[in-house]
Amino acid sequence: MQQIPDQMRQAADAPLDYAAAWKARTGRPVIGLLPMNFPGELAHAAGCLPTLLQEDDEPITIGQSNMFNFYCGYNRSIVDQTMRGRFDGLDAIMFGDHCVQLLGTADIIRAEKPDLPILFNQLCTVLDAGWAMRETRGTFSQIWKELEALTGEAIDPAAAAQSIRLFNRNRAQIRALYDLRRRGEVSISGRDMQAVVKSSMVMDKDEHVSLMDLLLRDMPRQAPGSGDLPIYLSGHMCHAPKPEIIDLIEECGIRIVNDDLFTGWRFVHADMDESLAPVEAMASWYIEKNRSLPCPTRAIKGKDWQDYLLVELENSGALGLVVLMVKFCEPHMYFYPEIKAAFDEKAIPHLLIETEHEQMPLEALKTRVETFAEIVRRRATALAA
Ligand code: SF4
Repeated sequence: MQQIPDQMRQAADAPLDYAAAWKARTGRPVIGLLPMNFPGELAHAAGCLPTLLQEDDEPITIGQSNMFNFYCGYNRSIVDQTMRGRFDGLDAIMFGDHCVQLLGTADIIRAEKPDLPILFNQLCTVLDAGWAMRETRGTFSQIWKELEALTGEAIDPAAAAQSIRLFNRNRAQIRALYDLRRRGEVSISGRDMQAVVKSSMVMDKDEHVSLMDLLLRDMPRQAPGSGDLPIYLSGHMCHAPKPEIIDLIEECGIRIVNDDLFTGWRFVHADMDESLAPVEAMASWYIEKNRSLPCPTRAIKGKDWQDYLLVELENSGALGLVVLMVKFCEPHMYFYPEIKAAFDEKAIPHLLIETEHEQMPLEALKTRVETFAEIVRRRATALAA
């Protein structure tokens, strides 16, 4: 059974190599997507491979001269990969402006790779504004036209509807795995869970759907529950946390029962409405997914991330919260004090871990996680007494 997560991890760890092989096999374009809101469905309907651009493990070297040190690791890695020629096999990048640092990254890529088409589109950030749906519809219609111009072929609305169905199916499969894990009916490590989601971001969708069918069918089932401490993992916008951090958390006797990571539940929690016309479905998906799972880069009045987390902790049976914050991620940094205050008020244990692209001192981190686990355990014992 481990064969399937391993196969997924291979694509997840080397997405650009996977994309190059796909392109050589199919002769079709590969479109790099920036997180977190561009629908891969549209690129898929245009006959392209959408690949969500990932941070890689290489140290930032030649990219450093182009960027401020206080840009997040994701942005610095994307610039560095651009300058190392890693994106040369892409036919375009779909860019957005969901945080200010990405604007700088787009400028650098344009300057460094003038021949690489950058489809830059602005998605509205105030999602409860009266004009939000109209604006979003307009943006996705614009991307639709830009993709048609790029490939030189019209996108058939029926193909877009088919892509929406396929992507919905893939999200539903991953959600089913999440449900099994939450109930403790399957044992899957956080590292493998990340490989499942990350590979779904970069692999050919039909191939991923087939692998998920096998995984869901063949995973050994177990009696629900586990002796480990159930914990909810939150944060980490835009890219996957390093697997070593997930391993370290689990090695401290913690079981991750749910998360809202972008390379996680945030990526799969919302489907597109198959009864709507494709652009309408994409626009309402964009607005609704950020309404149902608040994102610090979008604004909706009266919808706060901390309220979502408090409810989700209870629903998942988690006894504490671990927040993974990407170093220099401004949207997350601005939002975190609200989360901290809400969890302090309810006396729910929580731990903030700031992650970096560069090597992190894991021994010191392990001591902090062990201490947190002990606090959670003692509180659980006190509550049960
Ligand atoms: S991780 Fe944060 S700072 Fe980095 S690109 Fe995403 S939202 Fe922006």
